[in-house]
Amino acid sequence: MSLENRTAVVTGAGRGIGKAIAEKLASQGATVVCVSRTAENCGAVAEGIKAAGGKARALAVDVSSASEVAEASKTLIEEFKTIDILVNNAGITRDTLLMRMSEDDWHSVLQTNLSSCFYWLKGLVQPMVRQRWGRVVNISSVSGLIGLPGQVNYSAAKAGMIGLTKAAAKELASRNITVNAVAPGFIRTDMTASLSEGDAAREIMSRIPLKRFGEAADIAAMVGFLCGDEASYITGKVFTIDGGMVM
Ligand code: NDP
Repeated sequence: MSLENRTAVVTGAGRGIGKAIAEKLASQGATVVCVSRTAENCGAVAEGIKAAGGKARALAVDVSSASEVAEASKTLIEEFKTIDILVNNAGITRDTLLMRMSEDDWHSVLQTNLSSCFYWLKGLVQPMVRQRWGRVVNISSVSGLIGLPGQVNYSAAKAGMIGLTKAAAKELASRNITVNAVAPGFIRTDMTASLSEGDAAREIMSRIPLKRFGEAADIAAMVGFLCGDEASYITGKVFTIDGGMVM
């Protein structure tokens, strides 16, 4: 599963699942660009990787901004010539019932979770096409597969990521670029911290056959596999990692 001499961009790498993915890819030998909104968070993750003997660089980018992502992509291609692996993981929730959801709740979730994937693909795909090797992994959600109440915006964005994954997989297959999605269930991170106790936790647990939240490392393991040469015949797929919740 060596990713030696590969370069990777992981968005939302400042915390949670993205941090675990960045550390996993670095442990496999990739040079990892850790992207997050705040320089402090992605900087700390990149420093941690370097302290452990890996190769990393931090870049603070607001992934919901087309112009910031275009600028960042240009900088990275100038610096590395090509980015071999793109993991679109940055995401937010703005949960509320449909009738209370504001236009801003809708647009900010769509921009951050879905449009960002398009911006990064557009920014980084050209050198991948030229070298005829690439890996793209989009972190969707079970919410995009089954829909969850209070998440009309988030479910739409995460379902959109699956459509984007399948279309891009078909478009890029002839260039030896695979595009896959991973759909996590409930994973223990800041995003789900408020759901890990009390009635909410009990209700969620009753729907998870394995009776526990997953860990960020569970998602990172799948992403690490999909980015390697062993996964070269897998494209356009959605991998659900949810303790058996969606069957
Ligand atoms: P966290 O809230 O723990 O971390 C989110 C990361 O995304 C942070 O590093 C944050 O940056 C970054 N981010 C958010 N908005 C932006 C932005 N506009 N520009 C750049 N970076 C941004 O989330 P998780 O680790 O839990 O989730 C990661 C992904 O997995 C998300 O896409 C989420 O939807 C998905 N997911 C999570 C599940 C879960 O149970 N946790 C379940 C299903 C899917 P910073 O650190 O600088 O604030």
